[in-house]
Amino acid sequence: MESKILRQVQNLIENVHCCNSCLGRQFGNLLSGLSNNKRGEAMKIMLLMEWENSHRLTKVKPPKASSLLSKDFNIGYVSIQRFFPDVLPCNSSCDICQDNLSAQQLDTLTDDALQALNEYEFSSFLVGSQFPPNIIDKEDTIRGTYNLEFGESLKSEFNREIGKRLQNQINHAIVDFKIPDVVVTFDLINNMIRIKSNPLFILGRYRKLERGIPQSKWFCRKCRGKGCEYCNFTGKMYQESVEEFISKPILLAAKGTSSKFHGSGREDIDARMLGTGRPFVLEISEPKRRNLNFEELESEINGNADGKIEVKIEERTTRSKVRELKTRSSRNAKGYRAVISLESPLELEKSEIMAIEEAFSDILIEQQTPLRVLHRRADKVRSRKVISFQIEKIDSQQLTVYIVCEGGLYVKELISGDEGRTQPNLSEHLSTTAIVSQLDVVKVFNSKDSL
Ligand SMILES: [Zn+2]
Ligand SMILES: [Zn+2]
Repeated sequence: MESKILRQVQNLIENVHCCNSCLGRQFGNLLSGLSNNKRGEAMKIMLLMEWENSHRLTKVKPPKASSLLSKDFNIGYVSIQRFFPDVLPCNSSCDICQDNLSAQQLDTLTDDALQALNEYEFSSFLVGSQFPPNIIDKEDTIRGTYNLEFGESLKSEFNREIGKRLQNQINHAIVDFKIPDVVVTFDLINNMIRIKSNPLFILGRYRKLERGIPQSKWFCRKCRGKGCEYCNFTGKMYQESVEEFISKPILLAAKGTSSKFHGSGREDIDARMLGTGRPFVLEISEPKRRNLNFEELESEINGNADGKIEVKIEERTTRSKVRELKTRSSRNAKGYRAVISLESPLELEKSEIMAIEEAFSDILIEQQTPLRVLHRRADKVRSRKVISFQIEKIDSQQLTVYIVCEGGLYVKELISGDEGRTQPNLSEHLSTTAIVSQLDVVKVFNSKDSL
């Protein structure tokens, strides 16, 4: 039987000094369930037997191929020394990997990585690497020259071998190719190990029980955060925000570098957020701690906020939840309670109230970007549905209105009309200016909630 593979192997190792792994890797896509090191060793053993057989028959010289004497192949030099005691193992490094795949190098790098990972808490990891281009190019050239078509890449072998070693040492974590907690990159160009800790995402809900607190930190409009006379050198327009109450203790506990607050929509500064609260995701960059005690953090946040806000932390989540909050669920229905003041007194009869409720229930509102947010939002018309509209009369100049509407509807403008930019609106309907004097969000619906 003429063996194509054995011929290729022979040709390769007579010209290139290969460690077992680098030889085996050129045939890495043949057979699974065995390391390249084992593959390479098996091939060398086969050729060594061929050599010994012909030596016994014809007394040939020691083999030409230095790979059969490589330092990671002791069967090789021990067998050859039986016939040629002066022959020494070949100490040069592997022509392909420069000994980066030697057991010793892999063990050393694994130890260094474990040391670097010491200060991180993680339950999943991934190994990456950067090799000097000349090493990668050399392997490509060799594959071309010797027509090697079953090869695996050097990087993927390196990553897997280090990954296996790390996994053996780290019992609490698994390899995760999609969203690992940490990525360990072996930079063999600059001889360093880099750890990237992926963000931690925490899902919760908040209630805002006091008016006058913005959802997010709001930088001073004059100095944009540097601190100036206008903002009393705080850099902020408001001293407190829902975001800061929540993020400060969590950022500290997670030992992260920064945080981002993602709310499922937002209420106005002067509106309270009641009911079961509004969902949010807090994103912590480069955390070193991930197993946080949510109960303790909750009480710390709620204690600091002293009744102004209240937080319930639900669970760890992923970036996809942020996208969901920002897109799909921001359209989820919201329930509002608004106290409305009327410019001229109106003696509304029960039947008239019912007619207004009827007129504003289950209708589509065309809303041009409100004048008050025009400075930060594009001017465009959007349609949002009002699902239900219920009125409780306080007196001839004040009403309480309960509105359930699609997320993104501007409730204050639905009432005032915003100089005709919202159609239809309550002011035009009543022929007197109506304004919202108090606003509370009373429910943020889940997509599953029935309305
Ligand atoms: Zn090698
Ligand atoms: Zn300022």
